[in-house]
Amino acid sequence: MIPRIPHPEHRPEWQSQLARAVKSTDELLRLLEIDPARLKIQPLANDFPLRVPHGFVRRMSRGDIHDPLLRQVLPVSEETLKIEGFCHDPLAEIAAMPSPGLLHKYRGRALLTVTGACAVHCRYCFRRHFPYSDANPAMEHLEQSIRYLGQHPDIGEIILSGGDPLSLTDNRLQALCEQLSALPQLHTLRIHTRLPVVLPERVDASLLDWIGTQRMKVVMVLHCNHANEIDTDVRAAMQQLTQAGVTLLNQSVLLRGVNDSAQALVQLSETLFTAGILPYYLHMLDRVQGAAHFAVSEARANELLARVRASLPGYLVPRLVQEIPGAHSKMPLP
Ligand SMILES: *Cc1c(COP(=O)(O)O)cnc(C)c1O
Ligand code: SF4
Repeated sequence: MIPRIPHPEHRPEWQSQLARAVKSTDELLRLLEIDPARLKIQPLANDFPLRVPHGFVRRMSRGDIHDPLLRQVLPVSEETLKIEGFCHDPLAEIAAMPSPGLLHKYRGRALLTVTGACAVHCRYCFRRHFPYSDANPAMEHLEQSIRYLGQHPDIGEIILSGGDPLSLTDNRLQALCEQLSALPQLHTLRIHTRLPVVLPERVDASLLDWIGTQRMKVVMVLHCNHANEIDTDVRAAMQQLTQAGVTLLNQSVLLRGVNDSAQALVQLSETLFTAGILPYYLHMLDRVQGAAHFAVSEARANELLARVRASLPGYLVPRLVQEIPGAHSKMPLP
């Protein structure tokens, strides 16, 4: 058989899908057969415009302005409200960087923000005001970060974050991880990503091949907030990742109007499990400006978690946590 040589300019399917993502509110509402007059849409595309792949839109229900997936991506006028206590850098992360793009807040692990790009723009995102653009500081100062890691041999786990690290091409991922892998102290490569959920085409043969060659143990922490995000394509992608030896965990954010009911949370955990993913964290919303309309109170969150705990085995109950600047771990809520 003649081996198939990929054309050098051949663009993987996932990149074409990414390029074709829905980027206008009008188009999104037209696809969903929703009359724009029924919603208070944010009129201007701001510094964090709408972006959502078609495959994710297809998981939303037609004509439903309260669809939990739609709510996560639709810019609404409430975002422009200035609410006391909601700021631009709620986690004080910019101060916690020993090298641009490298966060070392917790013992034994460090987090590298390798790109600002994402396949989807989640309106509640705490990184929406983060000062990274296409010219990503972490990549430009990678040598400085590698040097820092080398000087801190107790760091055994490197976390790729962003943005979404899987929005990097395989070539760039490979180059980056080769450099990291050269540090013998690193035993675990953790990837924080929403891409396999919103664009399961990302999990293609090339990515799986690359994962198969990793010396480090690969852990993927996915980001899925609602059971409706998991369709048959996502399930197939998860199965392939599992077969490639990847440990699959999920973190979600507790979001008003998306998953703030015991039923939605139970269903999320059960659906994740059937797709081979274990729930890991349920985050309280970071108090970022423009996201106040997603906030759920601590009292309500605790009440919801108690009901989830009463309905599910312990391994399907996510840890309810909050990030507190300066703390040595994510803080569990009582
Ligand atoms: C969340 C986070 C981690 C990972 O924390 P785990 O509890 O290990 O999941 C590591 N570094 C930073 C800066 C983080 O924000
Ligand atoms: S994918 Fe993650 S980093 Fe990107 S916008 Fe959504 S929550 Fe933020």
